[in-house]
Amino acid sequence: MTSSYCAEALVIGAGPAGLGVALGLARSGVDVVVLEQQETLGSARRGETIRFDRDMDSILGKGFFEKQTIRKIRKRTYYSHSEANQVSRVILNPNNIINWQDFISSMAEIVQSAGVRIWTGATVTSFLKENDAVSGVKAMVGGFSQEDLHAKAVFSCGGCDDPASRYIGIDRSKIDMPVYKRIIQGYRGPADRLEYYFHLGTGGLTIGTIFSRAGTEAEIILLNAIRGNDQRLSFYEFSKAHPLFGERIAGGNSSYSLRTRIPMGGMLPDICPVPGLVMAGDALGHVQARGGSGIKTSFMIGYTAGELGARAIRSGSWSKEVSERFVKEMNSSSHMRSLKKHNFIYSKLRMHIFSRITTPEDMDRYWPYLKMVLR
Ligand SMILES: Cc1cc2nc3c(=O)[nH]c(=O)nc-3n(C[C@H](O)[C@H](O)[C@H](O)COP(=O)(O)OP(=O)(O)OC[C@H]3O[C@@H](n4cnc5c(N)ncnc54)[C@H](O)[C@@H]3O)c2cc1C
Repeated sequence: MTSSYCAEALVIGAGPAGLGVALGLARSGVDVVVLEQQETLGSARRGETIRFDRDMDSILGKGFFEKQTIRKIRKRTYYSHSEANQVSRVILNPNNIINWQDFISSMAEIVQSAGVRIWTGATVTSFLKENDAVSGVKAMVGGFSQEDLHAKAVFSCGGCDDPASRYIGIDRSKIDMPVYKRIIQGYRGPADRLEYYFHLGTGGLTIGTIFSRAGTEAEIILLNAIRGNDQRLSFYEFSKAHPLFGERIAGGNSSYSLRTRIPMGGMLPDICPVPGLVMAGDALGHVQARGGSGIKTSFMIGYTAGELGARAIRSGSWSKEVSERFVKEMNSSSHMRSLKKHNFIYSKLRMHIFSRITTPEDMDRYWPYLKMVLR
């Protein structure tokens, strides 16, 4: 059965980017509906460390970060493949450990109190088009009813599974890297630091991380840092190759696991690929390639897209000219410029050094250079 519904703006995805967009739009007076495929907000956990960001904190209400923080971690240690080399860093702006579900629910409450309606269990399957512009979406709502939802603009923030990526045929293998996350209970390793283990195997570079959380809980992640390469090591294989990592997590019981992808450093240019369709967050690789910064970057770029998008919506129908002006304003916004600058400096430099490291021995040999960019 198909029915029809209208809002001024539709936002796909209630992640940091989608919630940021919705808040930016609603505070600028736009009537917004967010469509989220999960039944429960934040049930697919993603990143759970975040650094304090003044702009995000003031948008969400001063003290938001403090309320969400379970604990703060001020140190990081990086280990080379052989574990013969390591470097420890003190982080000036500490990593705040959060609970993803609580964090997303609290952001959603703020967004809802600005007048936004959030529909859970609503999966966008395709887009409606009129006169060469996107004019809405088709969505499965409540798992069985197909709805045509009309709007003046659609903001697609579905992360690495973003439906607009499929709609316009983006080759995501250029930006996404496979990532495997687990939450374990019974962790007995050091609690005062985030640990990073580098590993070079036949599938290329894999980075294993251990982030201690509250009590004996820890988040462990394996990131396969070769774009488009879906060969992944299991936690078991990684532990065998990296004895210290194995020792740290031995005896821990997995209470949550997730296989997904994460765009790291490579940004896609088409913020507004079709008039009336805007993309933001992981959908376009809006991730700062630096620990604890993906959530805030997606949220801030989303919020900016919401504020500027509201202006575009108010200017009449979303034509090609409106798109061009919107893209220009987005590209010159401070958050977009700082993301580009940061990723240009750090990702390029890191990739340059990592591209020279093809064997474990190389990693120890190049360690003095590598450790300069491990911050
Ligand atoms: C394992 C992992 C660890 C990470 N660690 C950190 C970290 O420690 N710190 C940090 O800052 N960043 C971290 N990141 C990055 C950070 O989580 C992301 O950059 C951020 O969540 C991106 O926000 P987003 O809103 O663009 O996408 P997402 O958070 O992925 O949200 C997208 C939303 O869209 C919904 N959706 C998708 N398709 C549809 C559809 N068709 N219809 C309706 N809804 C849909 C999804 O269900 C989801 O809720 C991590 C990411 C991963 C995967």
